[in-house]
Amino acid sequence: MLRAFTTFLLLFINLYAINPTVEELSWPNGISFLNFLENNKMPLSLFYELSSEDKELAAEIIAGTKYQILKDKDQNTIQVLVPVSDELQLHIFRDKKDNFSLEFIPISYQSYDKVVNISIQKSLSEDLFDYTGSASLGIAIRQIFKGEDIDFKKLQKGDRIVVVYNQKIRMGKPFNTPEIYAAMIETRNKRYTMYKFEDKFYDKNGKKNDKFLLVRPLLNARITSPFTTKRFHPILQRYRAHLGVDYGAPRGTPIRSAGDGTVKFVGTKSGYGKVVIIKHAGGYETLYAHVNGFAKGLKTGQSVKQGALIAYVGSSGLSTGPHLHFGLYQSNKPINPESALKTVKSVTNAKEMAKFKGVVSSNDALIKKAIAQGETDKKFEFFPNIIEF
Ligand SMILES: [Zn+2]
Repeated sequence: MLRAFTTFLLLFINLYAINPTVEELSWPNGISFLNFLENNKMPLSLFYELSSEDKELAAEIIAGTKYQILKDKDQNTIQVLVPVSDELQLHIFRDKKDNFSLEFIPISYQSYDKVVNISIQKSLSEDLFDYTGSASLGIAIRQIFKGEDIDFKKLQKGDRIVVVYNQKIRMGKPFNTPEIYAAMIETRNKRYTMYKFEDKFYDKNGKKNDKFLLVRPLLNARITSPFTTKRFHPILQRYRAHLGVDYGAPRGTPIRSAGDGTVKFVGTKSGYGKVVIIKHAGGYETLYAHVNGFAKGLKTGQSVKQGALIAYVGSSGLSTGPHLHFGLYQSNKPINPESALKTVKSVTNAKEMAKFKGVVSSNDALIKKAIAQGETDKKFEFFPNIIEF
């Protein structure tokens, strides 16, 4: 229905207005959602009228995010689409009465299962980009093999990489980090393969060798709101996303750093209130929001150990009661913090193992077939921009 309406709207504009233009822009560094509304002459009430969860989401727009803005011939904004997670986007549009409205809607995209087989010529990331069009595939591959003994700096020309993955395409371009099902790297005559099983990666024996593992920032944490990139709320009848985990705890409960790292930010961030951000090895960052206060003397640039006291639980910013909002990011992409906790290290139970073996054999077959067929010969081509407002 909604899609039909927006398609109709675009059609209407095409037929009756002269030259509406769609621009694709990058979200600038240091711009808040309020600044954005101001700069585009849209009412600030669009932000103020959001629920506290949605204000959190609006605070999550990451610099560099590609968004689309549709303007009429007088350069007045008609529609804006800004992705806020893998699945959800913020849609601002002018209704029939010429008032602006804001809603969160699912992102429309196509998705394709693919297998890429290439021999390294320039570097892992560059070659993967050339053949897949995805800039984040290389980063994701490095993360997956981090626990293995592969020295990515020593990969040589002619070393092989095969990736079985799913790529989303939005408006003719690869969109978001691909979902990797399995990946094989062959270097110095040795093959390393990792398989995805229930959101984690394991070697063929079901073992996990992950060096970056978090501890929960609160002892006795109780989850009050889980991580989700898109969920339809049956009572509110709308979509929402929550790009972190909320833990309920009394005000003043000590918050510990989830891992070793360096303090990147101590201060206030609109919807999140008082916030600490810690940078970890491998492009990871953790965010602790709505805190009541910071550990004495905590400052930017300081290094912290896993488990070190950094702040206290509170309800600063837009928060309905004392809780900790805990976020985990990998190269700026929000991931579920609960998936990186120091818990499961291998597939142990027999029933799970049987399922895992199935995953291994189906992916092995795909990798074998890709190798037999020879290298992926075609480099990725970007399609012209197809607008799907
Ligand atoms: Zn939260």
